[in-house]
Amino acid sequence: MSIKPVVALIGRPNVGKSTLFNQFTKSRQALVADLSGLTRDRQYGDATYEDKSFIVVDTGGIGEADDGSGNIDDYMSEQSHTAIHEADIIVFVVDARAGMIGADAEIGKFLHTLGKPVYVVANKVDGVHDSAPAEFYALGLGEPYPMAASHGRGVGNLLEVLTADMPEQENIVEPRGLKLAIIGRPNVGKSTLVNRLLGEDRVVVFDMPGTTRDSIYIPYQREGRDYVLIDTAGVRRRGKIDEKVEKFSVIKTLQAIEDSNVTVIVIDAHEGIVDQDLHMIGYALDAGRALVVAINKWDGLTPDQRDYIKLEMDRRFNFIPYVKVHLISALHGTGVGNLYPSILRAYKSSMFEVSTNRLTQILQDAVTANPPPTIAGRRIKLRYAHIGGHNPPVIVIHGNQTSALPKSYQRYLENQFRQVFKLEGTPLNVIFKQND
Ligand code: GDP
Ligand code: GDP
Repeated sequence: MSIKPVVALIGRPNVGKSTLFNQFTKSRQALVADLSGLTRDRQYGDATYEDKSFIVVDTGGIGEADDGSGNIDDYMSEQSHTAIHEADIIVFVVDARAGMIGADAEIGKFLHTLGKPVYVVANKVDGVHDSAPAEFYALGLGEPYPMAASHGRGVGNLLEVLTADMPEQENIVEPRGLKLAIIGRPNVGKSTLVNRLLGEDRVVVFDMPGTTRDSIYIPYQREGRDYVLIDTAGVRRRGKIDEKVEKFSVIKTLQAIEDSNVTVIVIDAHEGIVDQDLHMIGYALDAGRALVVAINKWDGLTPDQRDYIKLEMDRRFNFIPYVKVHLISALHGTGVGNLYPSILRAYKSSMFEVSTNRLTQILQDAVTANPPPTIAGRRIKLRYAHIGGHNPPVIVIHGNQTSALPKSYQRYLENQFRQVFKLEGTPLNVIFKQND
């Protein structure tokens, strides 16, 4: 397994945290197919630098009042607080133009108490004297890294230092099987569903080393197949079967998604489909995970309410037509059994294998039925295709002038592959290699 480290960006409002966040996450965003209809959570993102990656959290501004009088907690939202405590590494952004002010010193003192690695970033060095960052030495948090985030200057250097200090992502020996993450907002019914999915079988909880934010990993067997359920709700923590100790945590959710093969997102039908549900779906797809949606608490709804939710589903899920949606009642068990076939189908789709010959044949059929456009008098040529990865499946297409292929044509090819190989419940990455 590999659990990504979490980097939290903290600092006063307006110092450039969200600018830096965008710089950190843009490499990932560029790889992601643009899924219209998908709202993004601008607080949580994924950053990759060379062979290391991490989760980055923009905690929002803290220390509004800069007279240095108030308690820092007064200026921190509950969510920022959780994020800072769950983070492995802190990036403290200060404004080199404004210079050091009272609130920076307050935040600095607070950071000393955390006992976590802190990197001070002196942002907005464009147009100030080279010596401006030096003043932030006084924070006692080490050498400030000069940066002009809005110009992309200093970002690569910081990424290099940050990732060099990250531990090699350990390979912890873990139980074998299809890793299934059960995620969703608080109270949607995750614990109830986990208990249903596991059935009455006695389960052994696998101890995962790490911090309190970690999910519980539960290995079990069903119909001769090995599974490992990643329980973000913390229902069956050893010795605490009846006691729910875990609080909802976005970071834990993101890490569970990353570490899964298939993610089941639980949505509360009584609450409707809300933006946070879509953020989680977006994150699962960005991470390349196979996905099954369970609309829970389908019991106790009036026919009108049911019609309303179905309309909502049509509207809000129209960007993921390939994801299976189940209407279930975890409480009564209705519909829960049908989740397994969808989970397996999504898993098989995400791992699908095909020979280069056959894949190239499908590509040629698609091209014959609907040829790519001509660019400056030359037709774009797509020559051959092969599989480039699994979970998410990657199809690599080689050809000429492929960078000129319109998005609509890329989607056409993706849909052809989906249809022929009956790919359900998984994002599919089709990438192009230009040979001329
Ligand atoms: P946040 O509130 O800490 O997230 O700050 P933002 O990222 O929203 O940035 C606040 C303002 O500072 C915006 O107008 C940015 O364009 C600007 N800004 C961010 N980074 C830089 C920089 O490196 N140089 C300059 N001159 N302005 C910057
Ligand atoms: P979690 O926070 O996501 O783990 O949610 P829980 O499993 O603890 O459930 C929250 C509440 O919703 C509890 O009171 C459950 O009994 C209730 N609940 C869970 N599933 C269902 C369902 O299918 N129908 C109804 N009506 N209530 C449910």
